[in-house]
Amino acid sequence: MKINTKAVHAGDRKKPGPPVPVTMPIHTAASFFYETTEQLDRIFAREEAGFCYSRYENPSNSALEELVASLENGHGALACASGMAAMHAALLTALTDRRKFVLASHALYGATFSLLNQVLEPLGVETKFVDFCDLDKVRKTIQEQRPGCVVMETVSNPLLRMGPIDCIAQLAAGAGAAFVIDNTFATPLLFRPLEHGANIVVHSLTKYLAGHGDVLGGIVVSDQRHYDALRALARICGPVLGPFESYLTMRGVKTFALRMERQCLNARQVANWLRQRPDIERVHFPDDPNHPDAETIRRLLPDGLYGGIVSFEVTNAGRDQIFAAMDRLRLVVRATSLGDVHSMILYPVMSSHREISPKQRQRMGIKDNLLRLSVGIEAVEDIIADLDQALTNPA
Ligand SMILES: *Cc1c(COP(=O)(O)O)cnc(C)c1O
Repeated sequence: MKINTKAVHAGDRKKPGPPVPVTMPIHTAASFFYETTEQLDRIFAREEAGFCYSRYENPSNSALEELVASLENGHGALACASGMAAMHAALLTALTDRRKFVLASHALYGATFSLLNQVLEPLGVETKFVDFCDLDKVRKTIQEQRPGCVVMETVSNPLLRMGPIDCIAQLAAGAGAAFVIDNTFATPLLFRPLEHGANIVVHSLTKYLAGHGDVLGGIVVSDQRHYDALRALARICGPVLGPFESYLTMRGVKTFALRMERQCLNARQVANWLRQRPDIERVHFPDDPNHPDAETIRRLLPDGLYGGIVSFEVTNAGRDQIFAAMDRLRLVVRATSLGDVHSMILYPVMSSHREISPKQRQRMGIKDNLLRLSVGIEAVEDIIADLDQALTNPA
């Protein structure tokens, strides 16, 4: 063989196969080789399990999909290039063979809001947004509109509201609608929507599941009923995650439960500390006995695990005071995203909810003095000390 040919083929497709690694390697191959064309034909026909092309399935991605599907008690999963790609795939799957009408919570992640309004609406999908903490309103709208899909987040961003998911699941099922839940904020440690009647769960892997701020990804976990439609759609549209990102995410997921437990504990302590400060007007955190959804939270969330996000309103602060306080932070990272090992802070008006009109923001209860803190795994004393010096105005 000439060197040019060897450079292309040597070392690949070796027999016998490599020793079994204890963790899933990064399979970068775009396509897969078999001894006989007969076998490849059976795999293409899906008569035999196997990999043929990485847009369909890839071993590194399949391992991550199996992992997250098992955490959510789902039938199967599809790893996507971002949380938004996952949400897009989830909504298209939910609407397959159903009425092109979505009933959505009015408290959705900003880009999900835009996906419905700017991408799906021009394609003929109508969406009605209502307050999902108002069960009577949800019931009435489902009965009147007969939506094909109902979509909400387990714990809303940034005000941490929680709707009665179990009750809404029954209403959606009764109307024949697919029920899609974005479980990014809660994670499967706190809540597993499929166990409460949801059909499809979406995660931004970028957040708690990967957890280290070094990977962008998303995943759709579905029940058996929607799985074939989800995969068929992915084979065509190709929203799939890359194998490097699958590897990083799996590495993150291994410690996710440990990290999340610590983040929940730290967040409770930070929330309690903030509540005692006269310069903090209001703290939004689900452990509050006076939380507007306290009854639902008691019923659906495990005792002591309320998530790692704390949102709070700084007394009499406008944009300038908020910016100055944020600039004084030394440990807490000023950046968008959440769920990382490091604490992060974000100003929703400037970032996650920037595209939403001030009037709509007002209606959603997102004020100009609101900050959203994603509490990390650091020593809580250090997080509190940093917030203390940043919030204390230099006279
Ligand atoms: C971040 C986020 C998304 C979008 O995920 P990306 O990975 O950024 O595409 C969707 N939903 C929620 C609740 C999020 O926090």
